[in-house]
Amino acid sequence: MFIALPDTDVFTPECYHDPLFSPAEGGWANKGDLIEMCTPVMPKCVPCPYRAMCIRQTRPHPSKFDGVAGGRLWLGGEVIGTVDGVDDLDLPLPGKPREICGSIAGHERHRVVGEQSCEPCRAAFDSPPQAEPETEPAQDQLILAIAA
Ligand code: SF4
Repeated sequence: MFIALPDTDVFTPECYHDPLFSPAEGGWANKGDLIEMCTPVMPKCVPCPYRAMCIRQTRPHPSKFDGVAGGRLWLGGEVIGTVDGVDDLDLPLPGKPREICGSIAGHERHRVVGEQSCEPCRAAFDSPPQAEPETEPAQDQLILAIAA
């Protein structure tokens, strides 16, 4: 079939005109509602080539965004869900180190605000401290327990 219009390479993301990516205030009442509404559309972000740009432009954390951007579900600017198949490299680099950087809590904070982990936090997460081995109760404690 002949078409007079030229082909274009314009890419329209799957979220275009889909209100479930950014549900209107008043359309949901709580975190559970938001999760229920948005989770089904999150896989549409996986093949999207603009995830990183989407997050950079939405600025979900500083703008306290509620909805889906870049394969993450945000509530009040915090990540409450991430779809399988997206990459941490979509996220912006971390800013100034926090006091808790270098710990698993620091790693979690990076995740919640939607930024890449800094190197010390990543190292802490990759090799968490070993749990203390359980010690055998002292022999005299056993004797007391039996006598009681
Ligand atoms: S990554 Fe952003 S632009 Fe792409 S589909 Fe998801 S919400 Fe839309």
